[in-house]
Amino acid sequence: MGPEKLMLRKLTRVLFGKRAKSVIHTEEPPEIQHSAPRKQGNPERSVSSTGRANLSDLDLSGARVIEREDHCISRKSISPNALKVLYRLNDAGYHAFLVGGGVRDLLLGDTPKDFDIASNATPEEIRELFRNAMIIGRRFKIVHLRYGREIIEATTFRAHHTAENEFQDDTSHRAIKGLDSAHSSSGMILRDNVYGSINEDALRRDFTANALYYTTDGFRIIDFANGLEDIDNRLLRIIGDPATRYREDPVRLLRAIRFSAKLGFEIEMKTRAPINELAYLLESISPARLFDESVKLLTGGHAEKTYALLRQFKVGDFMLPGTMACTRDTEAPASRLVVLAMRNTDTRLAEGKSVTPAFLFAALLWPALLHELEKTSAGKAITLLAQQDAANKVIGRQLQITSIPKRFSIAMREIWELQLRLGVQTKRGVESAHQHPKFRAGYDFLLLREDAGEDLGGIGQWWTDFQEGDRGPQDSMLEALGKSSTGPRRRRRKPSRKPASGAGDNA
Ligand code: ATP
Ligand code: MG
Repeated sequence: MGPEKLMLRKLTRVLFGKRAKSVIHTEEPPEIQHSAPRKQGNPERSVSSTGRANLSDLDLSGARVIEREDHCISRKSISPNALKVLYRLNDAGYHAFLVGGGVRDLLLGDTPKDFDIASNATPEEIRELFRNAMIIGRRFKIVHLRYGREIIEATTFRAHHTAENEFQDDTSHRAIKGLDSAHSSSGMILRDNVYGSINEDALRRDFTANALYYTTDGFRIIDFANGLEDIDNRLLRIIGDPATRYREDPVRLLRAIRFSAKLGFEIEMKTRAPINELAYLLESISPARLFDESVKLLTGGHAEKTYALLRQFKVGDFMLPGTMACTRDTEAPASRLVVLAMRNTDTRLAEGKSVTPAFLFAALLWPALLHELEKTSAGKAITLLAQQDAANKVIGRQLQITSIPKRFSIAMREIWELQLRLGVQTKRGVESAHQHPKFRAGYDFLLLREDAGEDLGGIGQWWTDFQEGDRGPQDSMLEALGKSSTGPRRRRRKPSRKPASGAGDNA
């Protein structure tokens, strides 16, 4: 829409006012059914003739409309930028709603991570209205509206149960090779950009709690899938037939776990029933998307709970097979290290500190690394070369499932290598380890191993003292290395299957 038309619309609104609002209230839960796909690039449109888009222009049959006074969302808790986008789209005659996690988290009294907007404006129409808009995604178009560091994501109402972000930048998807139908053989959706009505958009979303729409028209909430009741009961319920929805997009299996951990919601019975059986479907998801999802799973502030659910639901057997296979004894230090790393991650995030996938994956794959070393060392002391070899194997196997971008896998290897180097008892060894760019992460990892119950002969404390001392005490500690038997010594072990030199002994 051009600026003249926009002005005209605004003028009409000033002269003739807004249309009377009328909303439909239905107490009955809506029927959830799959709708027929609409023609591509043809969003259902009901733009008000008075310029501003009104709720009364929309078909809300089957929806429950919750009035401003009957819900707890206040405009003050919504990002001003998201509100700006809603108003601008409305003023231009488009329907626009806050949807997804933004509405859900506000209803729960939490601070949303981000704000998503759904509209009947096409991506191109949105781009025309906003100078800061960028259309992203090849198969499914999403508009990113950038406000400094904040990105508001706007999508066009979609028909069909098209997976969000599906194949966005990922045409080499394993499951779609050679397939061009609407669904893959496993039922996965392959066709995108099928625009639809708000009702259709609601029912193609994943969970009922994620399908609530907030409008600035009367500040109401529109609930097509009984999401409000599920939020009240703290239940995570998938919309539609669970198995069908997981087949359409197996990432929903991971999302079920993620939201259950994040929101503290119980996964509703029918929603949870097929999870174990269908976990194998994740095989068809590209490693790149699974890496993104695993980072979301573990960096949302609820990694410990998420990790427990991954184990419980056997989704972990698919996502992290090495970890699951080598942590059956949950009391073994290597198993405890993983749990502690997850807990630490949550604490760090709660304190506003950063976390890196490198450290997370270093911890997650540590049990598998130790297992590999145990297999290959045959009782000999662990050399750097042997460890690098084991790391290659362990990382290589994980890469078949989740990609790990190079910068993270390099840092992971460095954290592991530092476990050997921090145990070296020479002055030069200590100095070079201390100057290593990944020293801090390596040292934190070392402490985690000790916390998990590994006996490293007090190396952790030595390094703590070393760092706390300034130049003078540090020099004396370095001097003492050569003379006394204290300090970070390579621990003498009788020849055994266990790795020496602090590489761990708890596989
Ligand atoms: P958060 O941003 O807090 O992680 P969210 O619910 O906003 O949670 P997003 O990934 O931002 O999650 O997605 C926004 C919304 O898009 C979701 O709430 C959901 O309605 C819909 N959605 C996202 N992914 C899918 C999917 N795979 N299948 C169906 N709907 C999805
Ligand atoms: Mg979101």
